[in-house]
Amino acid sequence: MAGMADRAAGDAHRSAALELFLETCVDSGLHAFPRALPDAPKRAPAQVHDLFGASASASASPGAAAAAPAAFARPRVPARAPVRTPEAAAAALADIAERAARCTRCKLAHTRTQAVPGEGAADARILFVGEAPGADEDRTGRPFVGAAGQLLTRMIEHGIGLPRSQVFICNVLKCRPPGNRDPEPEEKASCAPFLEEQIAWVQPELIVALGRHAAAQLLGTQAPIARLRGVLHPRPQDGRMVLVTFHPAYLLRNPNAKSDCWQDLQLGMRYLGLPTPSRKTS
Ligand code: SF4
Repeated sequence: MAGMADRAAGDAHRSAALELFLETCVDSGLHAFPRALPDAPKRAPAQVHDLFGASASASASPGAAAAAPAAFARPRVPARAPVRTPEAAAAALADIAERAARCTRCKLAHTRTQAVPGEGAADARILFVGEAPGADEDRTGRPFVGAAGQLLTRMIEHGIGLPRSQVFICNVLKCRPPGNRDPEPEEKASCAPFLEEQIAWVQPELIVALGRHAAAQLLGTQAPIARLRGVLHPRPQDGRMVLVTFHPAYLLRNPNAKSDCWQDLQLGMRYLGLPTPSRKTS
């Protein structure tokens, strides 16, 4: 009898400890747990989808993603999300854009033609985050309008099947680094509040990180793209799911990676419950 009582007491203690741990996670903003990162990502089933352009290859590049998991844990609305109506979100995004246009928090304010805060639907289900504006974006004030931007538009409209106007597109940095150099740590730190505000107001169901700089900013990791692809990652601060894939500029230089990117987008589409085309295209 004493043994049974000890086991019962032990079970109750473990149950209480688990409950406390889960409550602590939720209180700290963690609402889902990442799957283990694959050490050696499995190659996805061969499927050719050249929805982005004319030259996708049938062969997946090294580091192709594992097949998508069948089901996902839905993120909750962030605990500290602002009170949000579509009108309030649109007004807040416009205010963010105005503040970015006047911002002098880092030295890029002295070299930019104009800030490129981002654009899209205030209630978008998907928010794309790139690295920084390039020359075309710096000239026009709009994100992703150059060659890489045109590819991103095809990814959204031909691949995902949504008008570009129904998603939100922005960058980690709102101003162009001279010569398109990599963002510097202090520039990313200075600009981060704008991105966080945009995420908090749009409240996307899925954030797509385009390239390693966006992935690092959103997930706080320096892990390479090959280790981050193929699975959805909950952000530590709000539990929103992040999908990591290649930057369109990389795809322009490495068209064989387009099929991997398509696998990534399909993972996000399944998560959102969007239909994924089953037909092959060439
Ligand atoms: S990059 Fe960001 S922090 Fe730097 S000046 Fe532009 S808006 Fe401000």
